[in-house]
Amino acid sequence: MKVLSINAGSSSIKFKLFDGEVVLCDGVYERIGEEMSEVTIKCAEKFEEEVVLQNHKEAVLHLIDKLEKLNICKLDEISGIGHRVVHGGEKFTESVVITDQVIEEIEAVSGLAPLHNPANLTAIKEFMEAVPNAIHVAVFDTSFHQTLEPESYLYSIPYSYYEEYGLRKYGFHGTSYRYITEEASKMLGKPVEELKLIIAHIGNGASMCAVKYGKSIETTMGLTPLAGITMGTRCGDIDPSIPEFLAENAGLTIQEINKIFNKESGLLGISGLSNDRRDLEAAVDNPRAQMALRRQNRQVADFIARYFVSLGGCDCIVFTAGVGENSENLREYVGNKLSVLGVEIDREINKSRPKNTFISTDASSIKVAVISTNEELMMARDVMKLSK
Ligand code: ADP
Repeated sequence: MKVLSINAGSSSIKFKLFDGEVVLCDGVYERIGEEMSEVTIKCAEKFEEEVVLQNHKEAVLHLIDKLEKLNICKLDEISGIGHRVVHGGEKFTESVVITDQVIEEIEAVSGLAPLHNPANLTAIKEFMEAVPNAIHVAVFDTSFHQTLEPESYLYSIPYSYYEEYGLRKYGFHGTSYRYITEEASKMLGKPVEELKLIIAHIGNGASMCAVKYGKSIETTMGLTPLAGITMGTRCGDIDPSIPEFLAENAGLTIQEINKIFNKESGLLGISGLSNDRRDLEAAVDNPRAQMALRRQNRQVADFIARYFVSLGGCDCIVFTAGVGENSENLREYVGNKLSVLGVEIDREINKSRPKNTFISTDASSIKVAVISTNEELMMARDVMKLSK
């Protein structure tokens, strides 16, 4: 069964074409809406092009055209398409087959993710028109966290704002957490229903999740993906009075402040150097770069300790995503910090570019693993499940 996974971001579209679980082709459209967009498609051969794509609709039509023209596959061979949708509000607790009503419901919650949901919807509508016989499935970043309890998801502001506007913690990266939960269960040889996991999805965007018996019970991101731990360019949790302070003292508008918190903060903001941990880890003599790293490292360790209590114990701590999978610096710091809980990381294994393996010693009180996330494959699995 050929399945396409589509991940439409605010200025990019990533895709992967699967036959079952085998990847046939993948690619990315970047800088959509800018002067020149960049297209990269990797199959047996690599195709690269710079082209003017004014919006997501043009990018989707370009991709649909290329799938056939590059002989990747005929559109009518595609049996299903999984579409990533960033925000599902409280409406969607799992992936669903897309109908007109589902589109209306996604539109209804789009105010919660105004940069992302409209891009997701454009891709959905174009693909539904171009490939009408395929099953189209919406896969939400938020749905996995709909199991949070009110004491975890409510903000301590007047309850009417929750009732009227849906202001609450939703959490994101849910597709990654579901994938990691399934893979960790296989690695540990224990059913999901018996597992307590703490997962650190640390990439440019970063969040963490406590998964108890297959259900998310705590997560760091909030109403939007701006909350939680320090990220590449996002600030994570800060004192809620800071926007007012900046408005009054720096003369900034709410929109400017929001841009600063999203694009100029986090590791980049503290270091003044880069949002990329590779640059900061290389800058050993730069005190601000090292401070930015220590801040993110410490937050990861602190949330693990907190979630250990929330879960009432833990079978395995999993590191995933760009930083989690690649940064021995982060994992070593966290391992050392958690030695108070009896955690022990094997330093040699940690240094050896571990992939889908345990990095803890036999003596460690909690297993620690590095698992590569694969959100596109999780989306394809959802499509295959729903098409049965
Ligand atoms: P996102 O999906 O949020 O854009 P990714 O999960 O792709 O992010 O992670 C990208 C980040 O991974 C980069 O910004 C970089 O900081 C980090 N990264 C990649 N390789 C390494 C490495 N070898 N060491 C440290 N960090 C790395």
